[in-house]
Amino acid sequence: MTFIFDNTYVRLPARFYERRAPYPVARPGLVKLNLALADQFGIDPDALNSADGLAILAGNQVPAGAAPLAMAYAGHQFGRFVPQLGDGRAILLGEIVTPSGQHLDLQLKGSGRTAFSRAGDGRAALGSVLREYLISEAMAALGIPTTRSLAVVTTGEPVYREVPLPGAVLTRVAQGHVRVGTFEYFSARQDIDALRRLADYVIARHYPEAQEDERPYRAMLDAVIARHATLVARWLSVGFIHGVMNTDNAAISGETLDYGPCAFMDHYHPGQVYSSIDHQGRYAYANQPYIAHWNLAQFAQALLPLLDVDPDRAIREAQSAVDAFPDQFDRAWLDCFRAKLGLIEVADDDHNLIDALLDAMASGVADFTNTFRALADAAAGAEALLRSQFSDTALIDAWLSRWRVRLAKESTDTAARVIAMHRANPLVIPRNHQVEAALNAAEEGDLTAFDALLQILVNPWDDRPGVTPYTRPPQPHEIIAQTFCGT
Ligand code: AMP
Ligand code: MG
Repeated sequence: MTFIFDNTYVRLPARFYERRAPYPVARPGLVKLNLALADQFGIDPDALNSADGLAILAGNQVPAGAAPLAMAYAGHQFGRFVPQLGDGRAILLGEIVTPSGQHLDLQLKGSGRTAFSRAGDGRAALGSVLREYLISEAMAALGIPTTRSLAVVTTGEPVYREVPLPGAVLTRVAQGHVRVGTFEYFSARQDIDALRRLADYVIARHYPEAQEDERPYRAMLDAVIARHATLVARWLSVGFIHGVMNTDNAAISGETLDYGPCAFMDHYHPGQVYSSIDHQGRYAYANQPYIAHWNLAQFAQALLPLLDVDPDRAIREAQSAVDAFPDQFDRAWLDCFRAKLGLIEVADDDHNLIDALLDAMASGVADFTNTFRALADAAAGAEALLRSQFSDTALIDAWLSRWRVRLAKESTDTAARVIAMHRANPLVIPRNHQVEAALNAAEEGDLTAFDALLQILVNPWDDRPGVTPYTRPPQPHEIIAQTFCGT
């Protein structure tokens, strides 16, 4: 089994991690192998799909060239600072080098206890692992930056949550697993040397252009802020609710990280929350940009000692960087939603026009995905499908005339607009009731529904035979009101 490893994180000082191999599991069983991803990253699919491959994906064998470790990090969880979290149930096997020279983290999640496990068992349940596999791959297909899922393996051991569940290990691939919480870990310890090494590491790996800047740390901060502004705008554009936007789940690489209680909305409501542990609605759909802004302020705060030797100047640097977020987010959000509405050109009133549609959708209990998708038909003159999304068509009719006036001001021809709208408005998203049904069957050993759903979600754009059932919102009795983080 040949992975090409070049492990850079392990070259950081020992206080950045605990060196530890994954714990072996009783009876590894292959559940999912993402051969398309393996191919894309230059991993030999046959080697992966072998007995040695399975042993590696289960954590029973450490591949040659790996340097397994658990990363140290801290984090603000629901606004409260926890000075030590860390990989409590994950092991970074090492960094693989792709044919194009990119370094990617290869991580096993659910691979046993580490120095950071606290009271946890270090394990993961099959349902939550398959959930991450499905939704992360759906996100990737939607073109949204995300960690990827390479494989799912069952352990042959139960994990005990409220009830015994089958245990599993996910192989996660990411551009990087450094989090805002990694910086907070060293900031809380006033370990300036470590902060500097971490920042230099992040710049070298993720933001090499910052190296050219006369203030590299400020340039890195700006770049991270810009990536998160775009990332969260893109989440909102597909109705995604991350659910647990703690700073330990905010990836410095700008990838979507941690698929716990996340969910996609069915009908649009800005206050929508699914996570069973989010009692205050802190991570509600429309709160996500504010939370990202707050998380990035924690990042800037942790970086203060690097931004300037003079503390007042450092605070001014941090503040001006963080203050750029709202405008950057707004611009990214406008880009996304203009495209969703089929607007190619820019007009002053666009923000209002988009808000008015969203308001109508909230009042009319309109399905987020299907409403936007039906806008493309409406752009081509067929309004019935769009109007049928609203509990009261009067809510959308006034808006439709306003939108028509706006479209008429553009020179874009209708056919081109419809094609563009179909690329901005997915036909299918992972709907909670379908995800839940697929996971329940999978936990009973039947992957048919899971595989069928995955097959649909890896192409979210194109209408084709068999796709229609997956576009249907839940019937009242199918609605999933809550999702669980499954830790
Ligand atoms: P999460 O909610 O997945 O972001 O995890 C938050 C923290 O709890 C991280 O430090 C995890 O490593 C740790 N954690 C979550 N589940 C477990 C588990 N089953 N065993 C050990 N640590 C865990
Ligand atoms: Mg996490």
